[in-house]
Amino acid sequence: PFDYHRHGHHDHHDGRRVNPSAKQLIGTALRERVENIDHEFCEAGDEDTFFVADLGEVYRQHMRWKRNLPRVQPFYAVKCNSDPKLLELLSILGTGFDCASKNEIEQVLKMGVDPSRIIYAQPCKTNSYVRYVANQGVRQMTFDNADELRKIARLFPDAELYLRILTDDSSSLCRLSLKFGASLGETDSLLALARELGLNVVGVSFHVGSGASDPEAFLKAVQDAHVVFQQASTYGFSLKTLDVGGGFCSDNTFEQMASVLRAALDEYFPAHTGINLIAEPGRYYASNAFTLACNVIARRTIPDMSADSYMMYVNDGLYGNFSSIMFDHQHPVAKVLRTAGRTLYDTPAAEAYDGAGSIEYSIWGPTCDGIDRITESIHFPMVLDVGDWFYFEDMGAYTMCSATTFNGFSNNHDVIYVCSEPGAKALLGL
Ligand code: PLP
Repeated sequence: PFDYHRHGHHDHHDGRRVNPSAKQLIGTALRERVENIDHEFCEAGDEDTFFVADLGEVYRQHMRWKRNLPRVQPFYAVKCNSDPKLLELLSILGTGFDCASKNEIEQVLKMGVDPSRIIYAQPCKTNSYVRYVANQGVRQMTFDNADELRKIARLFPDAELYLRILTDDSSSLCRLSLKFGASLGETDSLLALARELGLNVVGVSFHVGSGASDPEAFLKAVQDAHVVFQQASTYGFSLKTLDVGGGFCSDNTFEQMASVLRAALDEYFPAHTGINLIAEPGRYYASNAFTLACNVIARRTIPDMSADSYMMYVNDGLYGNFSSIMFDHQHPVAKVLRTAGRTLYDTPAAEAYDGAGSIEYSIWGPTCDGIDRITESIHFPMVLDVGDWFYFEDMGAYTMCSATTFNGFSNNHDVIYVCSEPGAKALLGL
């Protein structure tokens, strides 16, 4: 079996991928694809943007999770990236799944995942979806308000309910508590109503905000959840599960986040209580596993007395896989994949930018909207032109899932799968 400590230790040391065998595999996949394109005569779409996904990265993240949060069972948040191979690997690894809609639930059930491994973690649900999950035997779901409780009482009175509480998400990238979560002032009356309606409250859930940066938010949320466990028992509910949500980043902040959470759980929900612990990580699993390559389709030279600069138009943008810039507050960094007929992936030339006297570029998406700009300013040491390729690492989270077809561009791009982890390859039968 794969020994994480020995091989993977430096993987996320500075938040960047440094696993040499992973780099090599991804580089080979990128190179083979772009070198096989005849840019002069190819069919429309042959030079489209594409992903390389390293499933080994997903596997390493899972091992890292188990090492840092051994008591917490992850339910992967499908909304983050519903790539079928990613879901398949996670289902083999034994995670559960957090789904937000009928389509997500259907996709997971079709893989043969048992309904007990799914939580419908959307506090404000569509009536027909509630009837759908009742039929499918997906019982676990969240709620955070009285109207939703009455809806569930009518449509699925046997559901296993998690009361989602409010958190302090002020230091997270994407705040959720503006929209969801019951305050500690409301939980008491919600529990009373659930009791009155004869509903089955089985746990508490929270989410500290996606892309969380303050570990103390987890501590406070666990403390609040503990209060609600006590409240629930006064209404005769014997809660059995705490769901600590998502918010975990894949970079080196994870270890600190996990250690604060682990300590809080050990203090407020110690193992001897028999309380189950689950989580809903999305970004943590998907972010680093996907590299995106896109093609320069047009160039505009901005003449300057001292040095020309260039506006580069590529075939993917904010309405496509760079939707993460809008919705997820990301700043993807371009590197040169191929220029002047030479592939530079993972060479010093590809890493070199921002050097003095080097050439300035801005990078734009393919639509006719001015907002569609990927990078305002970046420097490379060489003159780039139409037909060259860029690549962007860490493009797995909240990218293709929120891409549109605005201006008629495809939002369904090829994914080339590689696997830098023998353990994961064996599991997938590769
Ligand atoms: N669970 C719920 C209810 C969410 O809304 C989200 C993200 O919006 C997630 C889990 C996944 O969060 P993350 O990707 O930060 O782990």
